[in-house]
Amino acid sequence: MKDYDYHQPTELADALRIKKGHGGEARFVAGGTDVLVLKRAGRLDFQALISLRRVQELQGISQDKGVIRIGGGTTLTQLTASELVRGKLPALHDAVSVMGCTQMRNLATVGGNVMSAVSSGDTIPPLLALEAVCRLASPEGERAVPLADFFPGPRQTNAQDDEVLLALEFPAPQPNCGMAFYKLGRRAALDLAVVSVCILLELEAGGKRIAKARAAAGAVGPTPLRLRAAEEKLTGAAPSEETFAAAAEAALAEAKPWDDVRASRWYRQEMIRVVLPRVAWTAVQRAQTGGRS
Ligand SMILES: Cc1cc2nc3c(=O)[nH]c(=O)nc-3n(C[C@H](O)[C@H](O)[C@H](O)COP(=O)(O)OP(=O)(O)OC[C@H]3O[C@@H](n4cnc5c(N)ncnc54)[C@H](O)[C@@H]3O)c2cc1C
Repeated sequence: MKDYDYHQPTELADALRIKKGHGGEARFVAGGTDVLVLKRAGRLDFQALISLRRVQELQGISQDKGVIRIGGGTTLTQLTASELVRGKLPALHDAVSVMGCTQMRNLATVGGNVMSAVSSGDTIPPLLALEAVCRLASPEGERAVPLADFFPGPRQTNAQDDEVLLALEFPAPQPNCGMAFYKLGRRAALDLAVVSVCILLELEAGGKRIAKARAAAGAVGPTPLRLRAAEEKLTGAAPSEETFAAAAEAALAEAKPWDDVRASRWYRQEMIRVVLPRVAWTAVQRAQTGGRS
């Protein structure tokens, strides 16, 4: 039997007011695919749940001029169905398509994935590579925090307890950009990543050099990670096996993979060497063809 209160506001102001009334005893919930699993496992306790599912301000995927906005309450199914995501953000589309199962994707949200702050969270590497900013709302107002600065430690964010993740915002990729994501798991479905990598590359005119590179990885350290040293190796270099191998070594140095139940440190290191160049080549191919391939 349910041993907590359940609130279903439709407006952000009401959600924030209810949260203020309950303080730390209440928890926000979106799809509940993390919150309720943890509650049932006895790893999370609360006296009230405040559902964000019907809050209008958290909905929608849109582009205004050069900025794309994805509402925190957007479900994974809505992401995969979006023409904008499919056309302009193929790496995010790839990432969401391999998350969980259909039933889970119908409930789970991008905001819940980011706020869960697990190292293997699949939407996070693409959002890091896109240089997303988290728009947070509290009774005090709104603020923006770069996603790259959002995870101080495992399962921790820099959001305050009373803040709602309203949306993720980032510049729309340029037409000469290619973006790819790959998740290596122990099986094809319903598994968390052993290693995941996302790379966004912008090629110079003619395609001989990489003008801009953004790279990020999941499950290779305590938090999702922007691979800045790898980006430095890629920027200005010619797309080649040597460049991508050097970027993978740089990624290894900054990622510091570890042993756990899913894989050993050694295996993760070897897989970064395999996966990063593969993802980089797909990004190059997509940059050359102006989209998916
Ligand atoms: C069967 C199964 C398979 C899974 N497979 C994967 C997978 O392949 N890849 C993967 O990355 N994850 C996976 N997960 C984990 C989980 O489903 C995802 O992290 C999901 O995106 C969480 O979203 P949610 O809306 O259900 O979050 P919830 O459970 O509702 O919330 C998660 C956390 O975020 C907070 N929160 C939610 N929304 C907001 C908001 N807008 N503002 C502030 N706080 C908020 C909640 O308070 C809570 O702390 C799986 C889970 C299950 C049960």
